Amino acid sequence: AAAAARVPPVSETETRTIFDKIIAKEIPSTVVYEDDAVLAFRDISPQAPVHVLVIPKSRDGLTELGKAGKRHEEILGRLLHAAKMVAEKEGILEGFRVVINSGPSACQSVYHLHLHVLGGRQMKWPPG
Ligand code: ADP
Repeated sequence: AAAAARVPPVSETETRTIFDKIIAKEIPSTVVYEDDAVLAFRDISPQAPVHVLVIPKSRDGLTELGKAGKRHEEILGRLLHAAKMVAEKEGILEGFRVVINSGPSACQSVYHLHLHVLGGRQMKWPPG
């Protein structure tokens, strides 16, 4: 029997996302923190007074957290540290939330790993 055509998920077909264009400065963003490996910029649709996205400058297969491998340990640590730097710069160290949506069931929409740093208001739990 002929094998059914395999429809690859979006995460495998996306070669270049909007975040690559932000990294390349092809579309504008408001940068909050940057180093050699990490870029942090304001979310275009903020869900809190502070809403910043933290991304690796090189995606290196990290379309989503669920695709992380051993080789990503260093960049994952650097992203988390950058999230703390963002919280400090934004004056929300007293209380802030870091969210990673991984995959369709988590409503991930851009398949380039990113951390959401949220704060500046009382956060609720559980999240939706
Ligand atoms: P969701 O869209 O459900 O929040 P993600 O976790 O993939 O899923 O988040 C992608 C985020 O990227 C969204 O919060 C969205 O507002 C943000 N975003 C999309 N385009 C831009 C842009 N050009 N500049 C800044 N943020 C953007």
